[in-house]
Amino acid sequence: MEMRGRFAPSPTGELHLGSAWTALLAWLQVRAAKGIMVLRIEDIDPNRSRAAYTEALMADLKWLGLEWDEGPEKGGPYGPYFQSQRRELYQETLRQLAAAGLIYPCYCTRGELAASAPHGTEGERVYPGTCCSRTDGKRTGKEPALRLVVPPGCVAFYDGVRGRFVQDVAREVGDFIVRRADGVHAYQLAVVVDDAAMRITHVLRGADLLDSTPRQLVLYRLLGHAPPEFAHVPLLIAEDGHRLSKRQRDLSLAALRQQGARPENIIGYLAWKAGLMERFAPVAAADLIPGFSIKRIGTGPVVIGADAVRLSGAR
Ligand code: GLU
Repeated sequence: MEMRGRFAPSPTGELHLGSAWTALLAWLQVRAAKGIMVLRIEDIDPNRSRAAYTEALMADLKWLGLEWDEGPEKGGPYGPYFQSQRRELYQETLRQLAAAGLIYPCYCTRGELAASAPHGTEGERVYPGTCCSRTDGKRTGKEPALRLVVPPGCVAFYDGVRGRFVQDVAREVGDFIVRRADGVHAYQLAVVVDDAAMRITHVLRGADLLDSTPRQLVLYRLLGHAPPEFAHVPLLIAEDGHRLSKRQRDLSLAALRQQGARPENIIGYLAWKAGLMERFAPVAAADLIPGFSIKRIGTGPVVIGADAVRLSGAR
């Protein structure tokens, strides 16, 4: 079967060195297998997405030499390639899950959730199932979020970088949200619907999403789709141990370009950091295709320190 991979950026800020890193590795995995690369714009959250960022990130990816085969502008058999234009598909999937009795409305407020969960931080705590057996019906004036009934048991998968990963989703996450109270479909749902519909066979993305994968596998199973293979690459971190973030504007592609960085410096730097080259040297992305193997990527943290001066051309 032909390999199909994807970039799935959210246009919520300028393309950052950290996203260029995952984009490069996902692109190399696909190109080394002579597969098809898909670009899907994950503009599902209208409050956070901007069309200008979509334009900019497409220009940045092209500038880096990371071309795709299907996506916005190019089209392809599985479009549209914007999540904002795929809402009907997400709704249809929700109807299917609801018909199987796997969806329930949740009226819990943040306050109620906090009160029921003394441990953990926002976004990490286990949903206690408060609304699952609620029989008092709809509370007036408040739209509910929708949650998925998560079946009990462990979900295990083999990650191409990290090896075996197991999570008991019911116990460690609980019934998770598939549509927010404001009507926005959840990332977990949309990404599964889209990766399945776009026939994606290989997902390579940042390790921050490792923990989401078992939830996605639960959805694959309930929807009867064969899941892709997953590989979660280490995140780039700053010397202080924090993840590089969109807040570090000086490491946006736009800023690096302004400082005189050439694409081959950025690609060379990232490839060196990934362990694909022994020493730093400017290189074109296409020159890394021969000999690329995901097995060469380590699991350890990738620290971006003072050597980042090389990004702007210094040796
Ligand atoms: N849109 C997500 C992000 O930009 C990536 C989703 C994925 O690769 O599954 O973080």
